[in-house]
Amino acid sequence: MVAVRPISDDDSETIEQIDEDIAVTRSQMNFICPITQMEMRRPVRNKVCGHSYEEEAIVEIIQSRKQKKKKVRCPKMGCSYDDVKRSDLVPDEALKRVIDSQNK
Ligand SMILES: [Zn+2]
Repeated sequence: MVAVRPISDDDSETIEQIDEDIAVTRSQMNFICPITQMEMRRPVRNKVCGHSYEEEAIVEIIQSRKQKKKKVRCPKMGCSYDDVKRSDLVPDEALKRVIDSQNK
């Protein structure tokens, strides 16, 4: 007879705890600008690929690349969109609201 240890409450609690941590990390990641690596204050969303950046940071990149007559690649890691234009960017009101509410 093999003594099978019943699944304890402790184990399931541990799993729940991990899930929560991942969820928190994920939601925080969405607030981080892929350019500045800091929490966004004025997020803008790229209509084309759906990624968000800090407005100031992406506009600066677009302007400096434009002067060199070069296209702007989406700074989000893993994104292959390589023609980011100022007109692609829309204020990400939903994200801004979440960030603001987190900072209260
Ligand atoms: Zn993108």
